[in-house]
Amino acid sequence: MKKILFLAIILIVIITLGLPLLVNLITGPEPEAGNMKVHLFHHDSGQTEEIDLNEYITGVVAAEMPATFPVEALKAQAVAARTYVLKRLMAGGVINSEHPGADICDDHRHAQAWISKEQMKERWGVIDYYRHYYKIRQAVDATGNTVITHEGKMIDPVYHSSCGGVTEDSGSVWKYSIPYLKSVNCPYENNPRLIQTVRFTLPQAQKALGIDLTAIPVSTGSSPVETIEQTATGRVKTIRVADVDLPALLVRQRLGLRSTNFSAKIEDNQLVFTTVGYGHGVGMCQYGAKGFAEQGYSYKEILKHYYTGVEVGPMD
Ligand SMILES: [Zn+2]
Ligand SMILES: [Zn+2]
Repeated sequence: MKKILFLAIILIVIITLGLPLLVNLITGPEPEAGNMKVHLFHHDSGQTEEIDLNEYITGVVAAEMPATFPVEALKAQAVAARTYVLKRLMAGGVINSEHPGADICDDHRHAQAWISKEQMKERWGVIDYYRHYYKIRQAVDATGNTVITHEGKMIDPVYHSSCGGVTEDSGSVWKYSIPYLKSVNCPYENNPRLIQTVRFTLPQAQKALGIDLTAIPVSTGSSPVETIEQTATGRVKTIRVADVDLPALLVRQRLGLRSTNFSAKIEDNQLVFTTVGYGHGVGMCQYGAKGFAEQGYSYKEILKHYYTGVEVGPMD
């Protein structure tokens, strides 16, 4: 009896999850851009694999954004991922001395993170894999061959996890200010883990920052930690720790902080940081995109909000 019940459950799962996927695979229209190929270098195996563009984009969205996010947010992420890789392909491929013969790799430090179907199964479990994969793949296919352009050229569609209410101007993080990467408000950001506090012992902080903190526990008078300079959006630009001025970007990097939107203090002989948001804050805010989608905005509206003065439409 138990066995029959078990088989019945399996059958129901297959019908509800597997059937739509199967139908879609058989009857689904093949989007134009989906026929393009991407030569993807895998860091784990050291191999370069040729895969369909939309299959590549699906793996990026799966790696870069929670699958539980609303469909319009997933579509926005898909269009950003497509724009990123096509910008490389269109330019005749970025000269990639690290991975010769490949267009792109699966490491987020070199390009965009990407995971395979096997990694999706490991990450989500088999049942959720079918549910999530189908949802993401549909979102990717639904955007056809849509890309983001500024003055007729594909943009650098940078994004981050969570800005904390206002995105950052590109010029505050990088050398150059890019016209479509301006600071914008992020009114609907919906991130349950917005604030994080991390503590470092003074020896830990001293080692990571490369400055002498031995005087801090007994120091009196002026505060041992203070913000010297802020960016236009209120993020920290320069912080003074034990009379040494440090760029906040460097402090973030050295200590692995979630963002430069932080406050710092000394407490119980520890250097304590409280950060707001996660990431550099430039371009599309993923939790903000989630919030916009929950408010009923479309992926095009979301992208046009975060990338100033752009067009969102089919590739020429
Ligand atoms: Zn790489
Ligand atoms: Zn945001």
